[in-house]
Amino acid sequence: MEYAENILGTIGNTPLVRINRITAELPCMVLAKYETFNPGNSVKDRMALKMIEEAEAQGLLKPGGTIVEGTSGNTGMGLALAAIIKGYRMICVISDKQSQEKIDILKAVGCEVHVCPTDVAPEDPQSYYSTARRLGSEIPGAWYVNQYDNPANAQAHYESTGPEIWRQTEGKVTHFVVGVGTGGTISGVARYLKEQNPEVKIWGVDTYGSVFKKYHETGIFDENEIYPYVTEGIGEDILPENVNFGLIDGFTKVTDADAAVYTRRLAREEGMFLGNSAGAAIKGVLQLAEHFTPEDVVVVLFHDHGSRYVNKIYNDTWMKEQGFLE
Ligand code: PMP
Repeated sequence: MEYAENILGTIGNTPLVRINRITAELPCMVLAKYETFNPGNSVKDRMALKMIEEAEAQGLLKPGGTIVEGTSGNTGMGLALAAIIKGYRMICVISDKQSQEKIDILKAVGCEVHVCPTDVAPEDPQSYYSTARRLGSEIPGAWYVNQYDNPANAQAHYESTGPEIWRQTEGKVTHFVVGVGTGGTISGVARYLKEQNPEVKIWGVDTYGSVFKKYHETGIFDENEIYPYVTEGIGEDILPENVNFGLIDGFTKVTDADAAVYTRRLAREEGMFLGNSAGAAIKGVLQLAEHFTPEDVVVVLFHDHGSRYVNKIYNDTWMKEQGFLE
């Protein structure tokens, strides 16, 4: 019989899928690492499981313990699945910018959800970073995951996502393009691919309102780069330890409007029903066109599923309110 012992056994080994229409103007092949095939419908299942296994191994998380994380939803889902199978209580601290669907989905898999304001500084006690850290220290037996600075986040991608891309492309991958939030995905994949072939180019996709691109280019953490933005899942107003800037060749910034419009184009032109950061990622690939030649094999990673965005990106009224649709 061929089966997984439990749902955690289905994490990883996601397909690579060619993008045909949206990228028709590019000279090269573009392949999507299609992470919605994970059981929690996002790439985050990989790092959630890895971070929990590391915490168990280090004695930070004991049987019957509580997991606390500040999460935009996908990491919470990944942690929740592992918490269910392994018998932990799961608390997610989320910012009020996130879609209601993400909150409802977390509750569906048994999470306790705390909602915090978005428009406060990270060091403000009300911020979701501060609230998660506080709950992690106040609750007996709690472990604060901290995906931003937890090295097991990038390590998960070094051990699984990177090797899969290398194997699936038979070592032919020349560029890897991906949205950057905590930096775990880009840094782990970059380290693995550059170890196999130092010529592989790594591009991060950033948002307007985030510090990454400017910091990468100048070494300056410029607070003027920070302002509210709509795109979910990528961009930061902090420098997470998981962003390994030395492994990244460059960043490109995608506007909120483009990220939203291209997310919808992926659904309607490629049959790829995906989340907001996928639109940003594919628009990022198009913006990098001048870097590609006909021999290149570009891999772009799509983080999460469209179901979490039906009342936002896929809702015409919301799109018009944002000024993203005529
Ligand atoms: N897209 C989505 C939808 C996400 O939830 C995240 C994680 N914040 C990212 C992209 C960025 O991935 P990473 O945190 O590994 O940089």
